[in-house]
Amino acid sequence: MEFLSVATWEDALAARAAHPGALPIAGGTDVMAGLNHDLDRPSALLDLARVPELSQWHTHEGIVRLGACVTYARIVAELGDRLPGLAMASHTVGSPQIRRRGTVGGSLGSASPEGDAHPPLLAAGAVVEAASVRGVRRIPAVDFYQEDGRGALAADELIAAVLVPVATGPQRFSKIGGRQAMAVAVASFALSLDPTRRRAASGIGSVAPAPRPAAVANEFLTGELEASGLWDSRAGLGESLMYRYGELVTEAASPSDDIRATAEYRRLALAVMARRTLARAWSQYQGGQ
Ligand SMILES: Cc1cc2nc3c(=O)[nH]c(=O)nc-3n(C[C@H](O)[C@H](O)[C@H](O)COP(=O)(O)OP(=O)(O)OC[C@H]3O[C@@H](n4cnc5c(N)ncnc54)[C@H](O)[C@@H]3O)c2cc1C
Repeated sequence: MEFLSVATWEDALAARAAHPGALPIAGGTDVMAGLNHDLDRPSALLDLARVPELSQWHTHEGIVRLGACVTYARIVAELGDRLPGLAMASHTVGSPQIRRRGTVGGSLGSASPEGDAHPPLLAAGAVVEAASVRGVRRIPAVDFYQEDGRGALAADELIAAVLVPVATGPQRFSKIGGRQAMAVAVASFALSLDPTRRRAASGIGSVAPAPRPAAVANEFLTGELEASGLWDSRAGLGESLMYRYGELVTEAASPSDDIRATAEYRRLALAVMARRTLARAWSQYQGGQ
């Protein structure tokens, strides 16, 4: 197997175009597991880890541009204030070793329905920046995840970065797995409260063929918060609102039975997580955060 090592972004894009059979590799936590289990035998690996701009992030006009190779460990350490939802999710990924290697770009490259980064990216309204020798394309996260378990990348494209709006209110992430650490999510949920735009948004994971927003629940909560003047009063959310919200989040799911959980358990878990996550996020908002 050939190993293509590039040091510049231009060379990476040129190599991607010239070697369509080459598999990009960032942290390698998915790629190497696939190779070790003989699930994949690409003709070449295209190593992105030495391209400097992929490992950088910066904020411009309220948007964090997160290079594709920024690791989970760095998101936790450096971006907890700007991207609290993604940082919470990053903290739950694998183990310290996996978090020091694994990247959000790699998670998008795998586009697995279980990836912990996806629900907070959906809830935050993130946009994936894809590039090729043909140019740059921006794909909203909501359009990126395909039901066949792949990302919406063309064969000659690489993920350059993810553009994530800086949080203006509480963001939270919840995940249920078989144990506290090193667990693939059985169900996951992310919520973002945006008092500036007066919007609530969420993303669900591991409960459908692809990560997706809970669109009807988002509209319901956004509408209720506005209609009852709750953004301004910061009064408590009623039980009936919370239960209806949990129900609507669950209606967005289409889970299946598998080795980790039944579809029924996933639905129940999602409703409970949605209610609790909303309660915690709202309590944070009431407390002025
Ligand atoms: C023990 C273990 C535990 C884990 N636990 C979790 C967990 O709890 N939660 C979770 O979400 N994940 C978990 N993972 C999965 C994995 O760590 C994540 O999916 C991680 O985000 C992958 O990032 P990476 O940089 O290692 O990607 P890689 O393995 O390098 O690449 C993954 C895929 O993305 C493609 N790719 C990488 N970079 C780019 C790019 N810039 N452009 C286009 N394609 C690209 C690759 O070709 C490949 O298809 C675990 C993995 C292991 C081995």
